[in-house]
Amino acid sequence: MRRWNGWGDEADSFPLPEGAGAFLDRVVGAGTPPADATLAEAVASVRAADGDAAPALPPHPLVSSDPEDRLRHARGQSLPDWVALRSGRIGRVPDGVARPASASDVRDLLHWSAAMGARVVPYGGGTSVLGHLSAPDGPAPCLSLDLGRMAGLVRFDDASGLATFGPGTTGPAVEAALAGLGRTLGHYPQSWELSTVGGWIATRSVGQQSIGYGRIDQRFAGGVLESPAGTLRMPPFPASAAGPDLRQLVLGSEGRLGVVTEAVLRTSPLPEDERFHAVFFPDWERAYAAVHDLATAELPLSMVRLSTPAETETNLALAGHARTMRTLRAYLGARGVPRGRAMAVVGAAGGHPTVSVALLDAFAILGRHGGVRVPRVGEEWRRNRFRTPYLRDALWSAGYAVDTLETAADWSAVPRLLARLAPVMRRVLEAEGERVHAFAHLSHVYASGSSVYVTYLFRLAQDPDVTLARWRAVKDVASRAIVDLGGTISHQHGVGRDHRAYLAAEKGSLGIRAIRAAAATFDPEGIMAPGVLLGDAHDGPGPSGAAEGRDDG
Ligand SMILES: Cc1cc2nc3c(=O)[nH]c(=O)nc-3n(C[C@H](O)[C@H](O)[C@H](O)COP(=O)(O)OP(=O)(O)OC[C@H]3O[C@@H](n4cnc5c(N)ncnc54)[C@H](O)[C@@H]3O)c2cc1C
Repeated sequence: MRRWNGWGDEADSFPLPEGAGAFLDRVVGAGTPPADATLAEAVASVRAADGDAAPALPPHPLVSSDPEDRLRHARGQSLPDWVALRSGRIGRVPDGVARPASASDVRDLLHWSAAMGARVVPYGGGTSVLGHLSAPDGPAPCLSLDLGRMAGLVRFDDASGLATFGPGTTGPAVEAALAGLGRTLGHYPQSWELSTVGGWIATRSVGQQSIGYGRIDQRFAGGVLESPAGTLRMPPFPASAAGPDLRQLVLGSEGRLGVVTEAVLRTSPLPEDERFHAVFFPDWERAYAAVHDLATAELPLSMVRLSTPAETETNLALAGHARTMRTLRAYLGARGVPRGRAMAVVGAAGGHPTVSVALLDAFAILGRHGGVRVPRVGEEWRRNRFRTPYLRDALWSAGYAVDTLETAADWSAVPRLLARLAPVMRRVLEAEGERVHAFAHLSHVYASGSSVYVTYLFRLAQDPDVTLARWRAVKDVASRAIVDLGGTISHQHGVGRDHRAYLAAEKGSLGIRAIRAAAATFDPEGIMAPGVLLGDAHDGPGPSGAAEGRDDG
């Protein structure tokens, strides 16, 4: 059974390794385990909020009004979502959860919702980290549209390598269906276990091997969007000069235009060979120069990521066994990198010769900057790459909140983002005597620039409102710094509610008007996910409180 207030399946948990407690104590201080609400208490609070009032939505054969069902669709995975669920102060929950089985069900439900004056929030895997899934403010009833029944491979065009999937298909189901055909999508966001095809398209997601397989926007060849105004079909042409590309409007639309009911994805042959290697550098300057050279060399790699010294140290402290770490340090010492200051992971996938040549070329570039390859650590990284989200549960239980944010910029702006973003975040809670442990990595490199991904950790307060205020303070400072330092407000997580105040800074007011006009065309009555991406008349602050209502005009 999936955790109702955390990550993954209840059967899977990864406790903090020995030594992690001492590390956390050193970087932010001792944590105090919180008193979390139980599922029964949270469900009782939904029932209590319902009271004796008549249901907000009339019965419908595809709509559940069960309080636990509604609770499980009330929130995503952002830190404010976690604070709400863990504290039991959940706020508004949807009034119903619909489970359509077909595009025709979706059309009917959109018409029914419009007739009921209800708002509709499409729900994929529920892994949003930006407040996308909360019920909109305002008096209108809210329907969560869970696409989980519209899952699986619908058809495969062997001649073109095009695979059509239902929107609710999760990452493992996509790969399982394609593996039997000798194909892969190669899209591995860290949320891969739970996130879905429709969610990836709606948020413009990025997988860890984006250099090799491309972002979802490069894999999304076409499909169908059901909107309140009608059906939009996007033929999967390999390329087209027939005016603006409407797929680009649907990508990143975050549920505002309608529901993606079918997605045609470009697949690749299953790689004959796939390898991941870790390379350690004696200092950050050399590591950065090496990865910059690697990115601009445009080798046929599948991934390159580089952790700063603070992240390398943190990852090693939270990675596990003291004995393995001692062996690693001894090995690095013997190879002339005594402190192993910055770790890069480099991957390649494809035919044997391509992989071998790409990696040899990469090692030559990294070696020129003092990089030392360490056996087995890259494969270890691959094995554990979906495990980090589970650590969030373990950290929370030990009294720590952990969250991430990310941006991207061209290479000329990346050094100042790296130099200033995490440091300003570290200082935010000084006045209240709290420390923030913030550390970064370059997660996706491009020839012209890179994403910068920051993880930050701080102590939970006993009062959930204080924890939320701490998060808000750090998030606001970081978001402002990103915009001021020339980064995009999001390279991969999207906008949701928590970033919408910053969207106009990069789209401009004409750009925002164009997005708003598109939303009004597909959804004239404004029933789709109000408050997400764009501010709306009824919106108060988002769950984070970061944004004002109409912040974008
Ligand atoms: C631990 C963790 C790791 C993550 N790692 C990554 C990462 O590596 N890369 C990355 O890009 N993101 C990452 N994310 C963010 C998140 O997983 C992505 O945004 C993902 O694409 C969301 O997919 P989902 O199916 O869970 O969508 P949901 O969270 O359910 O929904 C997200 C948004 O998409 C809309 N939506 C969902 N389905 C549809 C549909 N069929 N039609 C129209 N709109 C729809 C929703 O209304 C909402 O606005 C991570 C999140 C977590 C919690």
